Amino acid sequence: MELKKNEIYQAEIVDYTTEGSGVCKINGMAVFVPSSAVGDKAEVKILKTAKNYAFGKIEKILSPSPNRISCDCDIFGKCGGCTFRHISYESELAFKQKRVFDSLTRIGGIDGSLIADIIGAAESDCYRNKAQLPVTTDNDGKVCVGFFAPRSHRVIPLNDCQLQSRAFAPVIKLFLDWANENKIAPYDETSHTGILRHLYLRYAEKTNELMVCIVANAQELRKEKQLVKILSEHLPNLKSIVLNTNTDKTNVITGKRCRTLYGDGYITDILCGMKFRISPLSFYQVNRSQAEKLYQKAAEFANLNKHETLLDMYCGTGTIGLTMAKYVKNLIGVEIIPQAVEDAKNNAFLNDISNAEFICADAAQAAETLRKRNIKPDCIVLDPPRKGCESSLIETIFGMSPKRVVYVSCDPATLARDIKLFSEKGYFVRKAVPVDLFPRTTHVETVVLLRRKNIDDHLEFTWTDKDFGTKGCKATYSEIQSFILDKYGFKVSNLNIAQVKRKCGLIERENYNKPKSEKSKQPGCTKDKEYAIMDALRHFQMI
Ligand code: SAH
Repeated sequence: MELKKNEIYQAEIVDYTTEGSGVCKINGMAVFVPSSAVGDKAEVKILKTAKNYAFGKIEKILSPSPNRISCDCDIFGKCGGCTFRHISYESELAFKQKRVFDSLTRIGGIDGSLIADIIGAAESDCYRNKAQLPVTTDNDGKVCVGFFAPRSHRVIPLNDCQLQSRAFAPVIKLFLDWANENKIAPYDETSHTGILRHLYLRYAEKTNELMVCIVANAQELRKEKQLVKILSEHLPNLKSIVLNTNTDKTNVITGKRCRTLYGDGYITDILCGMKFRISPLSFYQVNRSQAEKLYQKAAEFANLNKHETLLDMYCGTGTIGLTMAKYVKNLIGVEIIPQAVEDAKNNAFLNDISNAEFICADAAQAAETLRKRNIKPDCIVLDPPRKGCESSLIETIFGMSPKRVVYVSCDPATLARDIKLFSEKGYFVRKAVPVDLFPRTTHVETVVLLRRKNIDDHLEFTWTDKDFGTKGCKATYSEIQSFILDKYGFKVSNLNIAQVKRKCGLIERENYNKPKSEKSKQPGCTKDKEYAIMDALRHFQMI
């Protein structure tokens, strides 16, 4: 039976869409109901119908979902910030876990048992260290800031927001008082007139440093000095004021040009015990404490050693690679934004890291150049924007043949698409874990470890402990192999172990260089494997 617009039906919410809207079935048709909760029994009013689905809104809740909580924000549902302020954080995490699970199993084709439980946040409010607030005029004709309503350019005014750092509210008030007193006009995107486009704020939680960036449709501001005086006198933790000029007719928030009005033009935060310099145009994770957990997982999955080369693609200010630099021989970072690359170089210097190099280029092009230079990274970290990796980059990565790829993704759908491409070329997902960096929204990060199908897998013969002499052995071949797999993330064959043991004078009687089949080739032990085996022999006190 067809659904009628404005008609009211009784229904139960049974699922969420990936955008976090509740879904119910009415007369066999899917109806999307924003701000509803799975388990709600409600009267649903139909607002819009399409051929195979409809949109509705809750008219009356008949029996609330057990996951509902009371909402603590007046503009929830109106501003485009939070999707979940009406359900418990536990049920939000369950939604995110399912979102990642569904994408990676259905599109990515991976075994769901490889996906670990989501790492939730200790704090689901006040975690954002960055706010980009559009400036506009309210109903009384006063300058105000706010957030865009969902899928629109209508600004919903606000003075404070529960997701933002508490450090921002005083800046908003001082800025608006200055703009209203001096009648500095907000920018109007339809007529492309007016001055103030965005108030852009950043806060370094660990060092308590604050940055104010004003994005303007102008090279300078009237009463600029007065603004600097007011902000610097009233905000003891203010470290920097920057004027960013954006005179383009565009949705992109910041322009290319920054002029420092106060301080050094950047702030410094501490992440994973290291210092990071952040300037207005550089990417920095908005949730510092969850970013630490994300990076720790990435490091654990990368499982690096001192003989390896790490390539950090889409490196931003270098954060992921630099936190791993001490574990590797050398690190190469690639990032497209020049200011972020400058920050990355400074961050290496700030943290006494001398084995890192940063390249300012498009990821796919840089990878191709590195491949031509015969750079062979052992491990590649990928942390692309939401649209995922260019297919040409993935092709180049196959050409570089790294042993491990750690993919950090902010979009489960593009991640799933990309890991499918990887699996077609012999890189398989070994582990995946979702990490919640954006509580109260539908966004979720995922870290995935992909490993190259082991080069020993094709060997026609298998060797066992009994094939070898055991003089002087304290550990079996299988113990050595599992030690190496755990520590280095790759397999070594019994043949490899025997080769190294012979080199060390641990075995004399040897038939290991005689393959069981006549046709079999005799592979040599690579430097990496030799190093790992020596390490294992030392570990088991055999040398
Ligand atoms: N790994 C960093 C940054 C991740 S965000 C961190 O955790 O902080 C993604 C980064 O990719 C941004 O810094 C963005 O500027 C950069 N980027 C976007 N497109 C790119 C491209 N085609 N080539 C290289 N870098 C790109």
